[in-house]
Amino acid sequence: MTPKNETRWSVGGWRGLLLWKKIAFALALGATLGIFLNMSGNQAIAESIKLIGTAFIAAIKMLIVPLVFISLVSGMTSVSDMARMGRIGIKTIAFYLGTTAFAITIGVGIAVIVQPGVGIELGQVTAPEAREAPSLIQTLIGIIPNNPVAAAADGNILQIIFFAILFGLAINLAGEPAKPLRNIFDALNAAILKLTEIVIAFAPYGVFALIAWVAGTYGLDVLLPLGKIIFALYLGCVIHGLVVYGGLITLVAKLNPLRFFQGIFEPQMVAFTSTSSSGTLPVTMTAVQQNLGVGRSVSSFTLPLGATINMDGTCMYQGVAAIFVAQAFGVDLSTTDYLTIILTSTLASIGTAGVPGAGLVMLSLVLTSVGLPLEGVAVIAGIDRILDMARTALNVTGDAACTVLVAKSEDDLDEDVYNIPHCLKTPV
Ligand code: ASP
Repeated sequence: MTPKNETRWSVGGWRGLLLWKKIAFALALGATLGIFLNMSGNQAIAESIKLIGTAFIAAIKMLIVPLVFISLVSGMTSVSDMARMGRIGIKTIAFYLGTTAFAITIGVGIAVIVQPGVGIELGQVTAPEAREAPSLIQTLIGIIPNNPVAAAADGNILQIIFFAILFGLAINLAGEPAKPLRNIFDALNAAILKLTEIVIAFAPYGVFALIAWVAGTYGLDVLLPLGKIIFALYLGCVIHGLVVYGGLITLVAKLNPLRFFQGIFEPQMVAFTSTSSSGTLPVTMTAVQQNLGVGRSVSSFTLPLGATINMDGTCMYQGVAAIFVAQAFGVDLSTTDYLTIILTSTLASIGTAGVPGAGLVMLSLVLTSVGLPLEGVAVIAGIDRILDMARTALNVTGDAACTVLVAKSEDDLDEDVYNIPHCLKTPV
């Protein structure tokens, strides 16, 4: 673990700036440029700037499969106590489900109060095809890969996690003869982390390009009519982030919440602009380990799992969106309908992939469960990117909060690192 950037104060100018400051600056500059391009009718320029962002996202995605596999195997081989792994697993799942329940409750509460769908002009919309929910058994069996190489090629994170845990366990159980493998995985881990740091150093440019593209292509004329749903979701995300995660970090982990939010600023911003929590995973992993002092044995398991199944922002969004659609189409919801929305949103969010727009596709599941018109999906689609930004940032924050809590409870958190105001290194 490399807690501090020893050179960060010694280099002046842009290069010497802490990464989070660079990212904040890039965000403000990109948004300003985007708004200017939009107002001056230069959307095409905004489209072409997006290419820089797309290249950055491709570079982070390139890291996901090797990073998850290598860091999980190497994390597994660093713990010999198998009961501890079981405990970490149970705590993580309990945290993920518990906070998702809070998220959907907050979302439904806010949607009922703000009434985002009241007075919406519907216009001509066509319904997309409804999604079929896979059965629980199918999903569970699907976690076992027929072929681990195919799982890696498809980027199937749950299957990779499954194989990596077993492989790490086997290295431990094989003892002495497999010891060289343990060292190889530690070496591979150091190399893949270095590569991740190098790619992350380009985050300011990616963030700049993506936000300039969003601000440049979504004009106020598109956003204003659906302003209330945007407001409701952003408010819900802020409340959930500050009150639920901030509260848990303060009261349960007994840590300073400000440090937590400072330490995860980079992944939050990359999530916000890329709208992919899986794509952000390498950034989240590096930030949680380097900025917050979490050990590898916890974070290499909780974060990939969280990026795949823990989506508090998505769950909240599905609840808010379902109520929005009901209000927009003048459908009265019963108490049973609300409970159904809560349940299906939770399940749909677990099944949502951590990629851009996946939550919108899964929304059809929630709408179908209470008989709401699927045309609602088309109404929201026009501004979904803006909603996706907030929910993805919250998804990633939730994964990091869980990781800190579990690490603290397992004594795998270096509080000295956690308590230093610091930031990711800028290695290039
Ligand atoms: N974009 C979200 C994520 O990657 C998923 C969603 O669309 O809700 O976390």
